[in-house]
Amino acid sequence: MTAGFPRAEVLIDLHALRHNVTLLAERASGAEVMAVVKADAYGHGALPVARAAVEAGATWLGTCSLREALDLREGGITARLLSWLDLPTADFAPGVEADVDLTASSAGELARIAEAAGRAGKRARVHLKIDTGLSRNGCPPAEWPELVEAAAAEPRVEVVAVWSHLACADEPDHPSVDAQAKRFSEAYDIARAAGLEPIRHLANSAAVLTRPDLHFDLVRPGIAVYGLNPVPRPEDLRPVMTFRSAVALTKRLPAGESVSYGHTWTAERDTTLALVPVGYADGVPRSLSGRMDVWLGGRRRPVAGRVCMDQLVVDCGDEAPAVGDEVVLFGPGPAGAPTAREWADKLGTIDYEIVTSMYRPRVRRRYRGETA
Ligand SMILES: *Cc1c(COP(=O)(O)O)cnc(C)c1O
Repeated sequence: MTAGFPRAEVLIDLHALRHNVTLLAERASGAEVMAVVKADAYGHGALPVARAAVEAGATWLGTCSLREALDLREGGITARLLSWLDLPTADFAPGVEADVDLTASSAGELARIAEAAGRAGKRARVHLKIDTGLSRNGCPPAEWPELVEAAAAEPRVEVVAVWSHLACADEPDHPSVDAQAKRFSEAYDIARAAGLEPIRHLANSAAVLTRPDLHFDLVRPGIAVYGLNPVPRPEDLRPVMTFRSAVALTKRLPAGESVSYGHTWTAERDTTLALVPVGYADGVPRSLSGRMDVWLGGRRRPVAGRVCMDQLVVDCGDEAPAVGDEVVLFGPGPAGAPTAREWADKLGTIDYEIVTSMYRPRVRRRYRGETA
């Protein structure tokens, strides 16, 4: 292995991604699918992911910021786009011009969108967001009638949807899910009573998989598109990202010698070490030192000593891998191989954070399964 030798690489399997989108579309009770591609598609690369998601049946794409949505338009994406969180200083006119659906969480935001639509000479498509209990963005119920009235009376705006976001859908029995659904229904009734005929969307990945009663017209899966399962029961999702490197050097280490900064690991007997040229600058958390394995030569092997900025060392016992052999840090398997979920569990976080933090200048991204 020479030319293709990956120093640090995330391999993005778009076949797996299309499989996941197809599965989610089948599970969506006839609702349309908005693949959420915020944060550079959870670290997987927004444009290639957007293209593959659309090929597999997503008719909408969701982004956090308007900038992210405009980047998709400029990249040639023609699917419906929705963005939902911008600063009060944002100029929405380029969004209106580029046919990006925009979110209003307050009467003030609605007014700024309407003003931008006036400048763009085109009606803005707006989704009114009700805060049903996440208490993050979205309009509080007390201010909702005012927002709805303002939207209904605003000729520069077309109200497309009423929407909200769930706090605890990954715990399917959590009582907040029903409580939020009830507030959502009340908000929708208020919009209807004001003469609006919006579609509704509420479900994230977990609710797509567990709450068919909350699918409405459109669902917004994110993490499941990337093959990571947010719910307790097994699902046929395929992880899309593999983080890998390769053996750069091997050496024999005599018993009693120690490895890496701080000498936290000492060889109990003669052993072979494999040096892998990835470290915390490449997304391997230093806090996994002493408690992580890699997949090398068809089995798990422990990392010896501290993870450094640029390198880590694997204890291979009496087996000697070859320079250039693939080392998988995490990925879809085979069974027994480290996963993003395993890292997340050890670190006290969620796999969302693991994959999203893999967007790093030193880590090359490679795609498998791109269509021309
Ligand atoms: C991130 C996000 C989603 C997707 O959530 P997942 O749990 O990744 O499925 C859906 N809707 C909104 C508003 C989001 O911010």
